[in-house]
Amino acid sequence: MYLSIHPEESTFLDRVREFVANDVLPNTRKWEEQTGFDDEIWEKLGTVGLLKMGLPVDQGGVSCAAYCEAIRELAKGDPALAMNVAAINALVVAHIVAFGTPEQQEKYLADVTAGRVKVAWGLTEPDAGSDARRVKTVAEPIEGRDGFYNITGRKMFITNGGKADLIVIIARTSEKELSAFLLETNQPGFTLEKRIHTVGVSASNTVQFGLNNAVGWHTPCKFEEAIGLLYRGRLGIAGMAVGIAEKAHELAVEYSKQREQFNRRLCDMQSVQNMLADSEVEVEAARLLLQKGAQLFDMGLPIIKESSIAKLYSSETANRVTNRAVQIHGGRGMTREFLVEKLWRDAKLTEIGEGCSEIQRMVIAKQITK
Ligand SMILES: Cc1cc2nc3c(=O)[nH]c(=O)nc-3n(C[C@H](O)[C@H](O)[C@H](O)COP(=O)(O)OP(=O)(O)OC[C@H]3O[C@@H](n4cnc5c(N)ncnc54)[C@H](O)[C@@H]3O)c2cc1C
Repeated sequence: MYLSIHPEESTFLDRVREFVANDVLPNTRKWEEQTGFDDEIWEKLGTVGLLKMGLPVDQGGVSCAAYCEAIRELAKGDPALAMNVAAINALVVAHIVAFGTPEQQEKYLADVTAGRVKVAWGLTEPDAGSDARRVKTVAEPIEGRDGFYNITGRKMFITNGGKADLIVIIARTSEKELSAFLLETNQPGFTLEKRIHTVGVSASNTVQFGLNNAVGWHTPCKFEEAIGLLYRGRLGIAGMAVGIAEKAHELAVEYSKQREQFNRRLCDMQSVQNMLADSEVEVEAARLLLQKGAQLFDMGLPIIKESSIAKLYSSETANRVTNRAVQIHGGRGMTREFLVEKLWRDAKLTEIGEGCSEIQRMVIAKQITK
């Protein structure tokens, strides 16, 4: 199964590849070392069209197939940037499109998709991770201000949270009900508590923040509807994982053709060939599962099981393939001079973010036993 990408989307994907070659890959080490992207990256992403992929196609967005391809390409240049772009599109832009009122869409969408307003998505809390329903952050209606709530609580592990001007916050509206809110960070009730430094994707500005009667604007939706955006979101993380795996595999193949030991190239040694062949098969399988999930989404079919399958398989593939790529590079694979060590560290996030592998297995099992 190969993706049918619309000609206009092919042109967009050519632009993405050019952007990755010129503006992303050359900076990936620098961004990691400075633990942050350059500020101008957001408007550049906007210019390329990478922040409006989550809009409906007739309003300038792209198909899910093209979205996954774009994230895969971005991840080959910088996985942390791919993760940010994936979350912005699938969980923030798509949220405002699906649940925002016309007034909210009018106020935010143009600036968010141009990169002028930076955004994040806040679900996770110290006591609510895989079990998202444990969210303790509370939202209470403000008397006399229809649609506005006072929000109090704490969020952690929020991607781009340190830079965000606007965050989609999941909060509790009653003992049993949760919903989502748009919250501007430039207000007294919002406190950035700490930057969270991670072993991989470290250019991503991951933070913990506190909310103390911060004002949030309700986007009318049920918890299940807001969380339902994670199904396409997981395809984005799968795209990130496939991109990481592809890049690491390409580097391992190249290195194995150049390095000689025992008067032979590494790629002529059977044990190395086994590693290369296993990676080739797994990368191909992961790409096909990703494409299948994207195609089903574009056909309007359910993807609950398929997005979990794609995410689970491609994230575990990314971890195996990057591990083999380091092994094939030997000692050099553990040094900062070779990109495989970074890809190896970046790959870990794909097994944890937007639902760890154990949760994906749970979703798949539930779907086939219901
Ligand atoms: C770099 C990074 C960026 C992130 N960005 C965001 C973001 O932008 N917004 C956001 O809201 N969150 C974000 N997260 C949070 C992420 O989604 C959570 O870390 C993830 O859902 C797991 O939650 P937890 O870390 O609390 O682990 P826990 O829920 O405590 O789980 C720990 C481990 O227990 C096991 N486990 C848990 N539940 C089960 C189960 N039911 N069955 C079997 N095993 C289980 C798994 O092995 C799991 O890895 C980010 C995390 C990281 C590391």
